[in-house]
Amino acid sequence: MEFSTKVLHGKSVRRFQDGATLPPISQVSAFSYESAEELEKVFANRAPGFAYTRIGNPTVDAFEKRVCELEGGLAATACSSGMAAITAALLNILQSGDEVIASSGLFGGTIDLFGDLEVYGIETKYVTHVNVSEIKPLITDKTKVIFGELIGNPGLDVMDISSVAELAHANRIPLIVDATTATPYLINPIQYGADIVIHSSSKYMNGNGNSISGIIVDGGKFQWDFDKYPVLRKYKRFGNFAFSARLRNDIWRNMGGCLSPLNAYLNLIGLETLALRMQKICDNAFAIAKALEHIDGVSVNYPGLESNPYYSLVQRQFGGKGGGIVTLRVGSKERAYKLMNSLQYALNATNIGDTKTLVIHPASTIYIHSSEEQKRNAGVYDDTIRVSVGIEDSKDLIEDFTQAINQLN
Ligand SMILES: *Cc1c(COP(=O)(O)O)cnc(C)c1O
Repeated sequence: MEFSTKVLHGKSVRRFQDGATLPPISQVSAFSYESAEELEKVFANRAPGFAYTRIGNPTVDAFEKRVCELEGGLAATACSSGMAAITAALLNILQSGDEVIASSGLFGGTIDLFGDLEVYGIETKYVTHVNVSEIKPLITDKTKVIFGELIGNPGLDVMDISSVAELAHANRIPLIVDATTATPYLINPIQYGADIVIHSSSKYMNGNGNSISGIIVDGGKFQWDFDKYPVLRKYKRFGNFAFSARLRNDIWRNMGGCLSPLNAYLNLIGLETLALRMQKICDNAFAIAKALEHIDGVSVNYPGLESNPYYSLVQRQFGGKGGGIVTLRVGSKERAYKLMNSLQYALNATNIGDTKTLVIHPASTIYIHSSEEQKRNAGVYDDTIRVSVGIEDSKDLIEDFTQAINQLN
């Protein structure tokens, strides 16, 4: 089954009560049983069923199973936000004294989180590019996670998953990827060797900018060394499920960052059109990047352009689709603001993956608390504009950006 069909007719797509074509929104906190014995069985995982929505809910379960199938994973766990997903996935395996290797071009919130984890004795070492030659020298006995984004937001550098996964596995370290900007429409990172895949489903999966959520997909292939990851030891008997078993029984459930049933329902609706939207978004982004590439006074970064250093990797890994983010540099903050304020269609908003085209000046918003060095490493300059391309008609978008740039010259 090809992707667009699988989204609608995959194994995880069930018929619901009365033939309903979407799952009911189980907007409840708790589930009642005929007897105390039955509830005990559900709690002890000896009978299928739901007890309490923080631990599991049928609508959320439908969303988890759908994403798990689309990613080709073993298990998926939905969270209240992308940040909750990243936090839970990391704390599920890390403990005080451990080290993480991550790319400095990560989403700003993730960089801030790595800073927050320092007081718990978890240290992060950064590479400017997530590749073997930069990561290798930083690996020590304490390195417990390699973390990167497939298409860095907003740096737009692309990870060569297979080679990084190979290095990680040779050192018995799992590779965790944030695949938010790529989506399963561009790639299934698990097939390329990623061990845990995380999405901020607030973005392209939801697709309409109507709810915050995240999801952790466990590939189930990593051979956990229980001496190296003692926090998972209690779940050794779950074998390949050890990561997800601990997540669901400990960290995720006890931190309380569960997804609300209504938001899971909205995500399920969004997912059904993911392929259509992503194709249109990638086509639009390429068209805009191509049209603006040779205009004076602006430099364009888009991994799908032939002139981009990641072009061949984009062909090989993503089938030529370069994703939905384009960044522009225009010479100064003043010029960036003038361009943004001259746009007719793009909204000034801090989000990506909406149906509508959105623009933001990262240096004065998402990266406002970052140091100059952090900004430079993330590819954020005073004159950078991030464009999250939407599904409008590309002709209108190109005309709009062109007239806005012409106003600068
Ligand atoms: C938005 C985003 C996040 C955080 O997700 P939230 O749902 O906002 O918590 C993480 N990673 C990337 C790449 C993102 O774009």
